[in-house]
Amino acid sequence: MRELAFIGKGHLEWRDADEPRLQGDGEALVRPLSVATCDLDRLLVAGLAPVSEPFPFGHECVAEVLDVGDAVESVRPGDIVSVPFQISCGECETCRRGYTGNCERVERMAMYGLPMGTNYGGFLSDAARVPFADAMLVPVPGDVAPASVASLSDNIPDAWRTVGPHLDERPGSPVLIAASGASIALYAVSIALALGAERVDMVGGSSYLRDRADSVGANLLDTDFPKRAGHYPIVVDASGDVDGLACALRSTEPEGICTSIGIYFADTTPVPLLEMYTKGIRFHTGRVHARPAMEPLMELVRAGKFKPELVTGETADWEDAPEAVAGHRSKLVISRDH
Ligand SMILES: [Zn+2]
Ligand SMILES: [Zn+2]
Repeated sequence: MRELAFIGKGHLEWRDADEPRLQGDGEALVRPLSVATCDLDRLLVAGLAPVSEPFPFGHECVAEVLDVGDAVESVRPGDIVSVPFQISCGECETCRRGYTGNCERVERMAMYGLPMGTNYGGFLSDAARVPFADAMLVPVPGDVAPASVASLSDNIPDAWRTVGPHLDERPGSPVLIAASGASIALYAVSIALALGAERVDMVGGSSYLRDRADSVGANLLDTDFPKRAGHYPIVVDASGDVDGLACALRSTEPEGICTSIGIYFADTTPVPLLEMYTKGIRFHTGRVHARPAMEPLMELVRAGKFKPELVTGETADWEDAPEAVAGHRSKLVISRDH
């Protein structure tokens, strides 16, 4: 079969790969139909994230089920499904607690589309193997367009976890997002408003991102990160910038919560710990646990309250994937017919 490989900075190409096959009766094989780029993909393509070897690319997709093992009950061939980027069994103690990103039955950080130990392949390919089909796959209802939820595998749940649980706890709260160019910031704006946030303020952000944020309902503050943007009960750091992170932390009110989705590649990163201590804030950093958020988000899309397609900045045909991925500057969705 054919798969898209990331070769190096700005360079991807189609190559031949072994066809995956079922390796157990709880597994499924899927054929990706719509693939979205993750915010991390853009850094990889730009040479800004450390990777040392070619690897099969793409880890957000909606796919058609091709084949299932005898023990699979929730899906059958022909079904359209969203595939989480993380491999998780759904049954171990850690998965049952909702931390599917740290499943005990697979290698740490096991996922599609990045070189993290076992090669599970990438989604810009003709087929992918899903090791725990019943636990992982989420059916896409017939009234939801596959391309609109291509990012439900990763970036959309990543945005949800920054605001969803906290708006449940403190309904109607205003939200502050410190942004750069990441689509997760835009999804977070849309999801927070859909869930009833009084308003969503955005500080920082590229001019492209600010235009998009404005169109999905954000209230725009300064382009540069001030020392503090105000005092908010719910704050998101999606900046990947030390000044953005510090601004987010200083803008979190006492007993507020600040979630950072940013990946800071440096070994140590400065944070205003004294201010955090004296105010008493909750700070969370870590990878998303994508799977548990996928069904509630699918419902939000189906109900018409959250329109992820408004975040998509670029689209491309499947055949044009190498050039489209190499040149993408915003959320890219690549699709083919099924
Ligand atoms: Zn990702
Ligand atoms: Zn598990």
